[in-house]
Amino acid sequence: MPEIVDRDTARKLFSHYRREREGIRNDPAMGSICLICGSIHIVPKAGEPRQLLCRDCGFAFFRYECGSCGATVDGRDPLNPGCDGCGLRLCSCGACGCTTGRK
Ligand SMILES: [Zn+2]
Ligand SMILES: [Zn+2]
Ligand SMILES: [Zn+2]
Repeated sequence: MPEIVDRDTARKLFSHYRREREGIRNDPAMGSICLICGSIHIVPKAGEPRQLLCRDCGFAFFRYECGSCGATVDGRDPLNPGCDGCGLRLCSCGACGCTTGRK
């Protein structure tokens, strides 16, 4: 579950990561802050186990644990670019759905 963040912290993190998106994936608090509107009303997206949804603006984003190394992958972080092959995100370890999905 995303951790609960108070509004003050949320505001600070929001303005910080709006300017500098790198590092979002490593900040646990960013699992419960919308980078579009700053809302902390983030819920799991129905039917999409790897995505979260902002209840206020409707923006959905990828945030999940890498199946290969266990690091957090966040679609808003520039170091987690999208993969054309599987539609998931590339972890900083280089894995994505193409490499972690098959067993
Ligand atoms: Zn939002
Ligand atoms: Zn990884
Ligand atoms: Zn892939």
